[in-house]
Amino acid sequence: MLTTTPLQQQLDTQRDDRLRVVIAGAGVAGLTLAAMLRTQGLHPVLIERMPQMEHPGYMLALMPIVDAALRDIGAHDAYLASSTPLARYAFRSHRGKTLRSDDLGALLEVHGDYQGIDRGALIDVLTADGCPVSFGTTVTAVDDGRATFSTGEQASFDLLVAADGIHSRTRDLLDVGDVASLETGWSGWVTWSNVLGDDPTLGEELWGDGFFLGVYPVKDRLGVFLGGPSSDLSIGAAAFAAHARQAAPEIGPRLQAALDAVAADPDPYLWPLTDVRSERWVSGRAVLLGDAASGFLPTAGIGAGMAIESAWMLGRMLAHADRANLDALLAEWERVQKPRVESAQSNSRMLAKLMFRRGTAVAWLRETAARMMSVKSVIGPIIKLVAEQPDPDAVARRALGR
Ligand SMILES: Cc1cc2nc3c(=O)[nH]c(=O)nc-3n(C[C@H](O)[C@H](O)[C@H](O)COP(=O)(O)OP(=O)(O)OC[C@H]3O[C@@H](n4cnc5c(N)ncnc54)[C@H](O)[C@@H]3O)c2cc1C
Repeated sequence: MLTTTPLQQQLDTQRDDRLRVVIAGAGVAGLTLAAMLRTQGLHPVLIERMPQMEHPGYMLALMPIVDAALRDIGAHDAYLASSTPLARYAFRSHRGKTLRSDDLGALLEVHGDYQGIDRGALIDVLTADGCPVSFGTTVTAVDDGRATFSTGEQASFDLLVAADGIHSRTRDLLDVGDVASLETGWSGWVTWSNVLGDDPTLGEELWGDGFFLGVYPVKDRLGVFLGGPSSDLSIGAAAFAAHARQAAPEIGPRLQAALDAVAADPDPYLWPLTDVRSERWVSGRAVLLGDAASGFLPTAGIGAGMAIESAWMLGRMLAHADRANLDALLAEWERVQKPRVESAQSNSRMLAKLMFRRGTAVAWLRETAARMMSVKSVIGPIIKLVAEQPDPDAVARRALGR
């Protein structure tokens, strides 16, 4: 549970820590890192811009790369209890017919669990041991190891972590080089459907002609994503859902219920489909973490997984850190983790190029290819990342020449 705590109280509690860590952003990356550091007896100062946790919530499919982090913070059983296995994935034609269905769970089970979870439930899992946070607080200036907060306090830190998401403001205060963004020109609404259908472990996607519909199971419900070119979405969610229904008459009751849910939602959240990639992750004694470092398109369902992995790597490596050797550890963390994250991000970009297209001819071509290609080949680079997860302790020892 997140425990609202005055900033000064958090700063006082961490005063004698081996490392004084300030984390900006209580999303999945910031919360994972905070939990990892608490297992080492540290008291990371966690701040969050929102006045309280009131995120609209959405579904996350989490690859097995998150298992190690959840085990280290003692939350793996709670995670499994709060999520649902993603056993199968079905690919639909642009008219809605199921073209193929693959046993994704079996493909990944050799590496661990592949689960669907509501972001809010994941936050509960990550904070089950009690997590102090100061809401309504941001960092407004950083100068030579000192941070100024929006609430007026100032404090010295050994490490500042910008974990404040894809539009990170903390990143703007740091020297991290070029921050490039990929704009797809598409956006999408996210909502929930209670119609699970015959197989509650089945995720489905329909790559339409100028629209995209996906349903992804979490515990006891389905997350729904309906997207299209941003200029077409100005007609509103209900009208766009009706347009999708007309264009894909073969979708069947489960996806029809998903479109009904979009149409019935009075205020579905609209996500612009952009990403971001920072040239550097480390700037002196500050780092970028999660989407603030490499913000993901949701197309490969891997952004949160990589954010959790990066936080776990950093957290485990910081167990070897003191104020004197921190620079070497941060440099090695970036050297090992950044290429992994950017490889996953490239895979998401490649999928976006295939998915976010107009034109019936493109749709036919894509479907012909989909019949022949295996899921394994499409997300091959991601499976490779899952299979080759680094050992953070070995990376830390190498950084320190031990
Ligand atoms: C619709 C959708 C579906 C997705 N599906 C998947 C999926 O299936 N699988 C997957 O792995 N990934 C998925 N992703 C990607 C995933 O959600 C992100 O990669 C992940 O949440 C990044 O975590 P984060 O902690 O870095 O950022 P966030 O989760 O965005 O958290 C950032 C936090 O920082 C706070 N904040 C913002 N500004 C400040 C500030 N200045 N100071 C302090 N706090 C601040 C925010 O309020 C927020 O709480 C999806 C994303 C979307 C949008």
